[in-house]
Amino acid sequence: MSLAYQHGYSLKALNTFGFDAVAERFVAIDTLDQVRELHADIRRKPQPLLWLGGGSNLVLADQIPGTVAQIRLRGRRIETLNSDEVRVTLGAGENWHASVEALLDEDIFGLENLALIPGAVGSAPVQNIGAYGVEIGDRLEAVEVFDWSSAEHYWLSREDCAFGYRDSLFKRNPGRYLITRVRLRLNRRPAPVLTYAPLRQALADQSEPHPRAVFEAVCRIRRSKLPDPAQIGNAGSFFKNPLIDAAHHQQLRDRFPDLVAYPDGRHYKVAAGWLIDRLGWKGYRGGAVGVHRHQALVLVNYGGGNRQQIEALSGRIRRSVREAFAIELEVEPGFYPPTVQP
Ligand code: FAD
Ligand code: NAP
Repeated sequence: MSLAYQHGYSLKALNTFGFDAVAERFVAIDTLDQVRELHADIRRKPQPLLWLGGGSNLVLADQIPGTVAQIRLRGRRIETLNSDEVRVTLGAGENWHASVEALLDEDIFGLENLALIPGAVGSAPVQNIGAYGVEIGDRLEAVEVFDWSSAEHYWLSREDCAFGYRDSLFKRNPGRYLITRVRLRLNRRPAPVLTYAPLRQALADQSEPHPRAVFEAVCRIRRSKLPDPAQIGNAGSFFKNPLIDAAHHQQLRDRFPDLVAYPDGRHYKVAAGWLIDRLGWKGYRGGAVGVHRHQALVLVNYGGGNRQQIEALSGRIRRSVREAFAIELEVEPGFYPPTVQP
């Protein structure tokens, strides 16, 4: 089917901040033929192009120039490799959380710590989504991409994806690789990951919690701390947890004995939420935007806010953290169109 472009299209329902962004041109992509057609169209008439999943990791401007293409490629295939291992191939347009739950219903385990993360399967490798000690990179076998620079369609191995902390080849090369399918290597044998204290505590009454119990505990904890984008606009954690060296860590620990930080190789990963909370930002509200009252890492849009207001708030928070702790916070969601961080 040929592409049905819509002009002056509101993205308000397609970004979890709920910003009233308007795309100059919008198109839904349901098939690979449509991917190729879009590629040919953009080559004929060069213009900015944004691939959109669920819009849960984006800060959009009021006006979005060029084309926004929502990737809706569907599909789920399950192959049994041996008595334990299962290979699962998912279309990029499948919903992430629904896929986690559907696999659990088939007794396929390994994604339960990543429950309730909004967005599409195809966006998950972009920032190597992670929660409660598990990252998609730990469970991923390969990613199928349509290479926008060569118009070739091929698979990249997990090593090719060069995953890092909330980082990947895809994030470092925006606009190059359109992800069409994701292939995961999962398990029929439960192997719960309970390295994070709140999850361990929530399951303390069970000696060998089933992945279903882990899934439910993750959902419960997240619902108690995180704002539901359907109620309050947000893009999850607004800042990455910064890495600092051992000397800097010791200096901060001497000043703030209750600092929350975890050893990470030769560095320490500091909980950015703790830094922001320590400076009194939790629950702050300035006009239409603010800092969530249960989670200082989450900036929120109470309604009617926009990118400039979030940028201004983010800039103030980053400055205060820099002055108090000599730490440079990095913004996690992508700004579109791209901009220098405030
Ligand atoms: P979008 O926001 O639509 O896009 C994100 C980026 O991916 C954009 O650059 C976009 O161009 C690109 N992209 C989209 N589709 C494709 C594709 N098919 N091929 C190539 N590039 C593509 N993140 C975590 O890591 N852990 C969490 O625990 C977590 N919790 C969250 C909780 C809440 C309440 C919210 C709102 C967000 C949370 N996030 C979390 C962030 C976000 O949900 C994830 O990053 C998610 O993977 C984004 O998916 P999306 O489909 O919404 O991506
Ligand atoms: P939390 O449990 O209050 O912990 C605070 C921070 O400490 C987290 O950011 C986490 O880092 C780190 N941490 C906790 N225990 C750790 C351990 N045993 N080893 C290493 N690091 C540890 O965090 P939370 O805010 O409620 O979030 C829970 C999980 O969901 C976290 O993994 C978080 O990343 C994820 N989450 C992500 C987003 C997002 O948008 N990116 C939004 C909500 C929740 P990490 O963040 O590196 O795990």
